[in-house]
Amino acid sequence: MALKALDIYKLLPKKNCKECGDPTCLTFAMKLAGGKADVDLCPYLDDAAKAMLGASTRPPIRLIRIGFGERFIKVGEENVLYRHEKTFYHPPGIVFKVDDTMPLEDIAAVTRRVRDETLTRVGSDLRFNGIAIENTSGSPERFGEAVAAVEKQEAHLPPILIANDPAALSAALVHCGTYRPLLHAATKENCKEMCALAKQHGAPLVIRSDTVDGLVQLVKDSAALGVQDLVLDPAPASLGDFLRRTTEIRQLAITRSVPELGFPVYFDTAKTGLQDAALALGITKYASVIITRPLMPGSAKAALTLRQNIYTDPQKPIQMTPGLYRVGNPDKNAPVLMTVNFSLTFFTLQGYLESSQVPCFMLIVDTEGLSVLTAVAAGKLSEMLVRDSIKKFALEDEVTHRKLIIPGYASPLSGRIEDATSWKVMVGPRDAAEIGDYLHNEWKKEQGATSPPE
Ligand code: SF4
Repeated sequence: MALKALDIYKLLPKKNCKECGDPTCLTFAMKLAGGKADVDLCPYLDDAAKAMLGASTRPPIRLIRIGFGERFIKVGEENVLYRHEKTFYHPPGIVFKVDDTMPLEDIAAVTRRVRDETLTRVGSDLRFNGIAIENTSGSPERFGEAVAAVEKQEAHLPPILIANDPAALSAALVHCGTYRPLLHAATKENCKEMCALAKQHGAPLVIRSDTVDGLVQLVKDSAALGVQDLVLDPAPASLGDFLRRTTEIRQLAITRSVPELGFPVYFDTAKTGLQDAALALGITKYASVIITRPLMPGSAKAALTLRQNIYTDPQKPIQMTPGLYRVGNPDKNAPVLMTVNFSLTFFTLQGYLESSQVPCFMLIVDTEGLSVLTAVAAGKLSEMLVRDSIKKFALEDEVTHRKLIIPGYASPLSGRIEDATSWKVMVGPRDAAEIGDYLHNEWKKEQGATSPPE
């Protein structure tokens, strides 16, 4: 059973010495309770306390790192069954699969695609994570050539090497340099040889069995052979199979009923014949390493978008940094639109402003990520905040006029903002989709009304 923060606190030395990196023992206890710190960070814990805390504070699913460098993947360290209970922490790596019977140029092209393709959405760059190379030829030499073709692209992507034959994996590992590829897969037949390879190369290892008991036994065998960084492949025969097995694994792992199952899960969607459905299932239901054939553009966008949505903390609004943002090249007469720092509001408005082709400024004020309507209702958006933001971001140096367009939903504040700032407040539309028409009509009219006669 996981311990609560206060129970953990009782076992800590209470020196408040900060050596663990936290300001007090209580904050350290809270982190331990959330599975976000390691007991070893406190040098003053005696062995008895460490033994008591170790098992119950460690995240129930082990963190596994695949690859090195900028594009490495971190998976695992999840604490909940349902995202709304808290959040899911480490998004699954989505990895494009090639096999060693493909022409080497095609393998190189898929690698370059994963290296270069980026979808920018809600301020984040979304990318695929690696290349899985399968030894379908049965030839260790050919497998090595295929892996070398991937590595030659200098994509620095974590490779996943799929082969039943340890000799083929050995031939491929020669080309992986200092990367830490994920090796697939140890089974009860080859566990010893696969563990020896994983140990020799410091690489994480997938273990594969179509029963939970089989996985548990392989975890025990691998641990006895000195391999701790494991990923579980439940070898599903169908999507229903995958859902049943991963749900069972996740439940038994996070409740610590079967701690041996506390490892991330691997899912090869290319084997299901239902690529898109399998991808969506894997992202939502507990796969941490997802293998897929290279996706068509529509499916690629859908997968990246779904992953971003599922792995966004539902308890934290996604926020923009408050400040003054430019759309186009605004001059000193350009309109200024004030809004909140809720990311969705920002990016929606920014998109409509860009399509209006009216260069302007966006004054983004800090409402702690709340939307306009919620911020007004909660008192987070106030005339003082707008006044202080105008000063803080030196808006008066950027424009010569003193007119501020506020969102339609902030209209109850218009008078108070005028009094606090001495700026003329114009109430914009409630719907961001109407901002283009508003700028072309209302703003232009306002400019005409205040321009000196020629
Ligand atoms: S290092 Fe240990 S004693 Fe010091 S503050 Fe952290 S938990 Fe407390």
